[in-house]
Amino acid sequence: MADCEYIANCPVFEKCRTGVIKNVFNIKYCRGSELENCARRILKKAGKEVPLSLLPNGEHLETLKSC
Ligand code: SF4
Repeated sequence: MADCEYIANCPVFEKCRTGVIKNVFNIKYCRGSELENCARRILKKAGKEVPLSLLPNGEHLETLKSC
């Protein structure tokens, strides 16, 4: 499985490399089988603005802005 093409500039991957975020999202989505289903990636590919608080599973986590 190839890495997500946005991995270098994605705040979810960049700011949350450890702990639960890494285990649940980065491995599953950014470098895993759920890549095609990442809510951030879908918006990005569509040319739409991606909220900073948006998680790969479509939920929002306000604390993501400061993690
Ligand atoms: S969170 Fe989504 S857009 Fe960001 S690097 Fe991971 S798969 Fe790509």
